[in-house]
Amino acid sequence: MPELPEMEAWRRRLNDPVSAFPIAKAGPAHIATLKTFDPPLDELVGRQFSGVERRGKRLLFPTRDGELVLLVHLMTSGRLKTLEAGEAAPKQPAFALEFVGGSKLILTENARRKQAGVWLYTPEQAAAELEHLGPEALGLDAAHLTQIVRSDSRRLHALLRDQRLIAGIGRSWSNEILHEAKLSPYALSKELTDEEVERLAAAMNEELERGLKRREAGATDAKTYRIHHKLGEPCDVCGTPIAQVDFESHTIYYCRTCQTGGRELKDRRLSRLLK
Ligand SMILES: [Zn+2]
Repeated sequence: MPELPEMEAWRRRLNDPVSAFPIAKAGPAHIATLKTFDPPLDELVGRQFSGVERRGKRLLFPTRDGELVLLVHLMTSGRLKTLEAGEAAPKQPAFALEFVGGSKLILTENARRKQAGVWLYTPEQAAAELEHLGPEALGLDAAHLTQIVRSDSRRLHALLRDQRLIAGIGRSWSNEILHEAKLSPYALSKELTDEEVERLAAAMNEELERGLKRREAGATDAKTYRIHHKLGEPCDVCGTPIAQVDFESHTIYYCRTCQTGGRELKDRRLSRLLK
């Protein structure tokens, strides 16, 4: 799933093309993709976006007149692209907007189960929808992160991914951040020392900045991640083969030497715990 660095790179790429012209046609939209019906999608026609904003992993497209906000969440396999006038468009996009002059914004989702979503809101509805999100991960300082880690006793990998506590990080970047911070994914948040929290805050900002730079340069997953999906490859810090463990409903990647004092982490899949 695209996370903060990926979505911020998208935001920067889309900002100018989607705000250059008013909207000429809104839709078509796949029934599973468009999640709202009031205000109706046609309300966008004739209006112009002021640009693209981002909150956590979501993109927001506010109209210049301040009356509407289009919200997009790509989930696992949604992809956005802009097309110039006359450029061939996919036959059945999940969602499309056409601008005056013929350029387009297209959302595609190459998956049987449609998960990506588009919502059309008033600014008040959009604010209510985003209210539950914690502060943005990029730019979060050590003092603020200290409050968050002290507020709840959670395993670090789960805490970093909880959008209500910190917005923008998912499973890939929590692997990258914890590796950079040299902290165990299973460490309990309340047990971190002040020095460890500072290291975590620094690693979070460094890794998300690094990811954003890579993604803006068009880097693939393999060239962006240092540890995520790299089972058995040597850790780029110490050379130890990277390990993996199943935790809750997904897989964590970590380095035994850098992060867990040589220990192997135990499988904590929900299915195992329920047995
Ligand atoms: Zn290592």
